[in-house]
Amino acid sequence: MQIVFLGTSSGAPTTKRNVSGIGLRLMDRGAWWLIDCGEGTQHQIMRSVLNISQLEKIFITHLHGDHLYGLIGMLASRSLRGAETGGITLYGPKGIDEYVQAIMRISPVHLQYPLIIKVVEEGIIYEDDTIVVEAAKVKHRVPAFAYSMTEKPRPGAFKIELAKEAGIPKGPMYAQLKAGGTVQLEDGRVFHGKDFVHPPQPGLKVAFSGDTIPCQNMVRLAQGADMLVHESTYVHQHLELAERSGHSTAKQAAEIAVAAEAKGLLLTHLSPRYDIEDGPITLDDMLQEAQEVFLNSQIAQDLCVYEVKRTRLL
Ligand SMILES: [Zn+2]
Repeated sequence: MQIVFLGTSSGAPTTKRNVSGIGLRLMDRGAWWLIDCGEGTQHQIMRSVLNISQLEKIFITHLHGDHLYGLIGMLASRSLRGAETGGITLYGPKGIDEYVQAIMRISPVHLQYPLIIKVVEEGIIYEDDTIVVEAAKVKHRVPAFAYSMTEKPRPGAFKIELAKEAGIPKGPMYAQLKAGGTVQLEDGRVFHGKDFVHPPQPGLKVAFSGDTIPCQNMVRLAQGADMLVHESTYVHQHLELAERSGHSTAKQAAEIAVAAEAKGLLLTHLSPRYDIEDGPITLDDMLQEAQEVFLNSQIAQDLCVYEVKRTRLL
């Protein structure tokens, strides 16, 4: 898994940061998913390592413009790619369907691929053989969801050298052993699958807060995440502003990471007021504030690729 930030500014873009949009690259799948789609996201996609044709799913956290206004333009541009693009499933809070349909009715767009829109409720909203996506209600000025993506454990690798040494013939017997079965050779020797397969590898988990004040639901959703991407609109000195606008401070985001026992924290949705090099409070101050609570905190940068790795526990 890789996380690619397409926009890390809150409310309005700056010259260095676009408004909200985050790519989640799922290497095994040959696809990527998009969380939020602020205006200009399609330009950021072109500048990034992501390929718009490989976009498979979009998750909108809430219906504020800085998370949404890039959606229709991006979908329409993607359609110009023609036959090389597959369908897209769009998930979002109640109203996402009306929003898309109303714009497409008034300003006709003919998409060359199927667009399926799913209005989400709390709970598991998508699941297949490899991954589970869960939505949880968070607390903002409008209905808002956070999302987590959890890979399912992968079967352990087959100990092929061991099988060769044992003289087990390649082919169906290997498959039986891989599936955990028992095989018997012509000479009478019996082998068990469990001795020839490494233990299953746990999958990775990531969680995206969207916009929210600190809330228990976020802690629950992000429990044990290998990477938590949490909004950090303000520094704690501006707590009152954060509370009034339904946002979190860096300290609060770090506290959520601690409570959820997350392994890493990426701070995003940063107020443009701190993105001024010689301003009174800078993003370095914000980073320090977060790291005092949760050391493995980082300030997300536009177009940077963050590799999500399993942290080995000693
Ligand atoms: Zn918002």
